[in-house]
Order: sequence, then structure tokens, then C-alpha cells
Amino acid sequence: MGKKLSETKKITKKKGGKKLSKAPSQARSDIRSCLKEIVDPFSEKDKDSVWEFFDSHCAYCNQPIERTSRLGHMDHLVPKKDGLNHISNRVLSCNVCNGDEKRDSSWRDFILTKDGTAEDHAVRIKKIEDWVSSKTPNKEEIERIKSRRAHAEKLAKDVISVLDEKIEELKKLK
Ligand SMILES: [Zn+2]
Repeated sequence: MGKKLSETKKITKKKGGKKLSKAPSQARSDIRSCLKEIVDPFSEKDKDSVWEFFDSHCAYCNQPIERTSRLGHMDHLVPKKDGLNHISNRVLSCNVCNGDEKRDSSWRDFILTKDGTAEDHAVRIKKIEDWVSSKTPNKEEIERIKSRRAHAEKLAKDVISVLDEKIEELKKLK
């Protein structure tokens, strides 16, 4: 999940290390995320709940994480592209697990690739399942969030097409 972001960062920093302005692809992705987060938010209070429930340990590998270290991430269990921003889809993840490529495998399979015995893995999986079931809203609410997200996605397309037009206009000035 984190890989895509770091690739984008690299793109904006190439050319002899001279920092360039944000690439259009990053801007498009920011527009989509920003509009979706308005209708499917994740608050500071939600973040506190995640830290508390996972007791400052990575949900996947169980490494302790110092909150002040900035190494803790609010990872999406189901990747951002398909999954909600909602607290029920967020867990605490260390820097390493957050950066690992796990897009094609489920979070359950991902945990099995981490250090620990089968029993350790089962404990972590159960902990996440308990979290998800305690935070998942009712069906109507999920449908409401999904429909708002679809609306935000449509609006993002409109905004992005205007952005692309303006980028083309600016390019012609060269
Ligand atoms: Zn981890």
C-alpha cells in the first residue's frame, strides 16, 4: 500500500535531487482522496481509538511502536482503492508492514508472512477481527457511505478533467 506513494514521491524528486512541484498524477490522487475523505472521514478521535485498541503495537507483526516516533500508520485493511476510510477498515501498522507490498494478498495472508508462531498469528488475526466487528456500522450506514463515496468519485472526475485542461493550457505557454 505504501509503495505506490513512495514511487510517486520519487517521481517528484528526480532530476538530480532537485525537488520538483507535485506531479499531475499525485494531484489527481490527492483530489480523489480529499473528496472521498469528506464523505467518509477518519477523525483524530478515531486515530486515538486505533492506538488504544492495538495498544501501540503493529496489528500485523506485533512490534511495539512509539506514538511520538511517527512510525505508526493508520493502515487500510482493505486497500484504499476499494476499502473505506472508515475506522472499521483501519488498523495500526508499523513502518515496515505499511511499506510492504500486500495489495494482492488479504491482510490474513499477510500476517502469516510475518514473524511468530501459528498461535501468534491466530491471536493477531482474532484481534483484528474483533476490531472490525466492533466498529463495522450497520448495512444501511455502509450503503450510505458507499453511495456518498461514489458521488465524491464522480465529482473528482469532473474536477480532474478541469485540472487536466488547465495543465494543457499551461503547457502551451512554453
Ligand atoms: Zn509491523
